[in-house]
Amino acid sequence: MIRKREWRRLLRRENRNSKVRIEKYELRNWKYEIKKLSTNKFDIAYLKMAKEWAKLSYCKRKQVGALIVKDRMIISDGYNGTPSGFENKCEDEEGKTHWYVLHAEANAILKLASSTQSAKDATLYLTMSPCKECSKLVLQAGISRLVYIDEYSDNEGVVFIKNHGIEVHRISEEELL
Ligand SMILES: [Zn+2]
Repeated sequence: MIRKREWRRLLRRENRNSKVRIEKYELRNWKYEIKKLSTNKFDIAYLKMAKEWAKLSYCKRKQVGALIVKDRMIISDGYNGTPSGFENKCEDEEGKTHWYVLHAEANAILKLASSTQSAKDATLYLTMSPCKECSKLVLQAGISRLVYIDEYSDNEGVVFIKNHGIEVHRISEEELL
């Protein structure tokens, strides 16, 4: 049998412990918020750069820019376009995109294939979320984080990426202003 006084003592201790727990939780959350804020600043800057990269594309229908950043260094970049050596025309006479046009993220990832760098645990910045085909490349390249502005018409790529444990953030055009 626990006496009344004993109960009170135990309750007091329990309260104290839960208070400590809550404070610890808040501190953790607060640290997380701070981290989120500071990463956000760089995310926004890199997305703005990705937008500049998109402007380099010769494609008329859609211009997409990509940057791959690792340890706060840009290790690759890309925009949608035809492979090297091809004519810089993405669309045929009817305005349809040629099948051999490479998407921005594919170009950025493939550029790394001919370098000594690796996209493992890097962040991919995109002006538009990846399509299904590119999402496979993103996963296989070992990219661990994706930050993008616009949503591609088909969201299956992003869903696939999220389901495979890649951290995904969307920052809208308005947030970049
Ligand atoms: Zn794609």
